[in-house]
Amino acid sequence: MLSRAYVDELCATGIEAGLTRVGVASADPFDDVRAVLEQRKAAGLHGGMQFTYRNPARSTDPARALSGARSIVVGARSYPARLVAGPIGSDTGVPPRPVARVARYATDDHYRLLRDGLHAIAARLQADGWRARVLADDNALVDRAAAHRAGLGWYGKNANLLLPGIGSLVVLGAVLTDAELPATAQPAADGCGPCRRCLDSCPTGAIVTPGIVDARRCLAWLLQAEGDFPEEHREALGDRIYGCDDCQEVCPPNRGALRDGPPVRGGTVELIEMLTLDDDQLLARFGRWYIPRRDPRYLRRNALVVLGNVGDVSQQEVLAAVRRYLHGDDPMLRRHAAWAAGRLGLVAEATA
Ligand code: SF4
Repeated sequence: MLSRAYVDELCATGIEAGLTRVGVASADPFDDVRAVLEQRKAAGLHGGMQFTYRNPARSTDPARALSGARSIVVGARSYPARLVAGPIGSDTGVPPRPVARVARYATDDHYRLLRDGLHAIAARLQADGWRARVLADDNALVDRAAAHRAGLGWYGKNANLLLPGIGSLVVLGAVLTDAELPATAQPAADGCGPCRRCLDSCPTGAIVTPGIVDARRCLAWLLQAEGDFPEEHREALGDRIYGCDDCQEVCPPNRGALRDGPPVRGGTVELIEMLTLDDDQLLARFGRWYIPRRDPRYLRRNALVVLGNVGDVSQQEVLAAVRRYLHGDDPMLRRHAAWAAGRLGLVAEATA
């Protein structure tokens, strides 16, 4: 077992490289998490979600990602959360074009910055003769469970990990290593108390019981799922085009980051642009997002639903965009354009 002083140096390396919090846990399999994932998958609560549900036996066993793994160094990086007005259409004097909202975590490549911090830790371990593998935004590890085991935070009732004094507006990643490191802490105690704001504020009631999210109702997942966007949740989608921040916006531990933290600008995208770009342009512009099968039709599907919610048919380009897909050759997009047309009051066109 290596010394606590060595762990302190690793943590300091991560903090210097931009991480907000660093902790260490053993790399024993997460058997309890595996059982929960398998149960929820069997109950259908994953709603087809892949990620760590894809292969729970693999994502809960760190040794599958790095043979001989003994420890996990977990890093969290806060991302900017205080929204400031975006530049789109704000000072041109013409009616603003319809825009859709992007969740805060996706406004920039925060995982790249997280990886920089994790790689600094991995480089130190490797320089000292150990093996190390960085995992961030990867299906190979249940990163929240690792962060919980490392004592970084508690599971909120919205199923996010909340870091004391910081909240849940963070991205998480890990370094697996064969070095045997002393754990930094016991898992943090629950900090939600009697609060249940996230359950009450979810637009679709997707948090079915504290800590359990039914993916079939979670707007963030439905935007990333294949097939038609469920009709019963299209109005609730509102202007969201990627991710949903609602359960984090109402969460008291996030208040400081939302009110006083570093600002985020540009959390919107133009819908007409999304509905006009060709496949290559769409993937070049939004390729960092998770898109089912990397199929740009899903970006258009989502944009049509949002346009139905926020568009103004007195704007010619809105009308033209809806009509273009209503009469296009893609049945899925035709269906969503028909819904948008109906929602915008174009009754004759929606039923034609
Ligand atoms: Fe916990 Fe309240 Fe935050 Fe939900 S909103 S995660 S109950 S503190």
